[in-house]
Amino acid sequence: MIARARSLLASVFGFADFRPGQEDIIAPILAGRDVLAIMPTGAGKSLCYQLPALLDDGLTVVVSPLIALMRDQVAQLTGLGISAGALNSSNDAAESRRVFDALRTGDLRLLYLAPERLAKPDTADMLRRAGVKRLAVDEAHCVSQWGHDFRPEYLALGELKRALGQVQTLAFTATADAATRADMVERLFDHTPEIFVGGFDRPNLMLAMQAKDGPRRQILHFLQPRRGQNCIVYCSSRAGCEDLAQALNQAGHRALVYHAGMDKSLRDANQDTFQRQDGIVMVATVAFGMGIDKPDVRFVVHADLPKSIEAYYQEIGRAGRDGLPADTLTLYGLGDVRLRRMQIEDGQASDEQKRIERQKLNALLALCEAPRCRRQTLLAYFGEQSAPCGHCDLCIDGVQSTDGTVDAQKALSAIWRTGQRFGTEHLVNLLIGADTDQILRFGHDQLPTFGVGKDHNRDRWRSIFRQIYAAGLITQDMSEHGSWSITEAGGEVLRGRATIALRADTLKAKGRPKRPVA
Ligand code: ADP
Ligand code: ZN
Repeated sequence: MIARARSLLASVFGFADFRPGQEDIIAPILAGRDVLAIMPTGAGKSLCYQLPALLDDGLTVVVSPLIALMRDQVAQLTGLGISAGALNSSNDAAESRRVFDALRTGDLRLLYLAPERLAKPDTADMLRRAGVKRLAVDEAHCVSQWGHDFRPEYLALGELKRALGQVQTLAFTATADAATRADMVERLFDHTPEIFVGGFDRPNLMLAMQAKDGPRRQILHFLQPRRGQNCIVYCSSRAGCEDLAQALNQAGHRALVYHAGMDKSLRDANQDTFQRQDGIVMVATVAFGMGIDKPDVRFVVHADLPKSIEAYYQEIGRAGRDGLPADTLTLYGLGDVRLRRMQIEDGQASDEQKRIERQKLNALLALCEAPRCRRQTLLAYFGEQSAPCGHCDLCIDGVQSTDGTVDAQKALSAIWRTGQRFGTEHLVNLLIGADTDQILRFGHDQLPTFGVGKDHNRDRWRSIFRQIYAAGLITQDMSEHGSWSITEAGGEVLRGRATIALRADTLKAKGRPKRPVA
């Protein structure tokens, strides 16, 4: 069967071979099994349901929320001589009639349905009469309230499936976090499907992350040798974009700005210039990137912490689309973390959603501060296993990690002895023995912890707080004081029942990432 699939791949679609993952997904589909496939955008998910639709009898119904995509696919399939149609709100009467006729005569191989069709009372009947064999749910994360794009109409899929009886179910998405995945499995399938995760690796992207240490200087340093290359620098605020672009222009770069607060005509003009010309540094908020298809972006910088690992992945993914080596650098600081925490807590989301957003932030921090290969950590987040990549900052420069148990215990005990009511700066003063007004006012110079951390400087202690936070030993309250308290895992370390490795070098700006010798 897969041999026939391969020959149709060439004769109908004109592709020489499967893309990574496609064959692994198509084989169980042809064997009649339910499948959930998680692959990044552009990996070639559509083919995974289109090809099986040609290989056996019966109709494949594709549910998709994107009308434009439906239209493109129907046109493309029709052009390849495959009978396909769509039912959605943009159809004219003639088109709908053509589709209904083809359904009646059993000619149609693929029928694309808009989600609002699902709940219509006659839909199940129509599909049953047309001999539906397989249901392919595109953008399947839309069924989950925890995904970023919940569509209540998708909930009607369960009812429709019950009405149809036995149909094979396939679900496709690029969104991979654990909560959404569990939700998709529960809502779309009667039994656990075969789950495929793949294709997230972008080996030509070099990954690097650094703690902020004079971020402007760090960015200028990294951009210095890149004059003439196409670069994108993402900032979290509009004002940050303007300031940084000005600094870059003063340093002799050609920098342009893009954010949603700008006049639309100027914004469009800047995007257009970036798209057409070379050697421009685009300094932008995440509003920039949707319509961008520039293959030879060589460097993507996050001047501030991105929103989540998903956002990070999507944004760095704008580099090196041509497959040639491209660099990425992400800067992060505790201020970013506080800001994200405040955004989450002050947001309108439900408690459940807030909990998930907190988890996502923690996962991102773990990626920033974990001592092992960045790519391994990143791919593991998407459910893909891999070996150390050999060309991320941690693989190249290595990471000195040492037993940090004693330092962690000092920090934890500073938190404990001050009643879990203080934030980083006060605790650092306590540890290094600085007799500031606040220390004296609270009598904290009398504590046994006062000055026990003299052997490290302030920056090192700040880094230790960040790392034990990333490792889950402490949590921060959401007030502006940001006071720390100790988690269960932190208690284990404090009592000497667990150890922790800490990175020695998270705060020093290292040199430019070296390129692996090919
Ligand atoms: P996704 O739905 O995963 O975002 P698409 O299904 O739109 O991705 O596919 C992205 C592009 O890759 C399309 O232009 C498609 O024609 C192309 N493509 C898919 N499979 C193959 C293949 N085996 N060989 C070459 N190109 C392919
Ligand atoms: Zn690596």
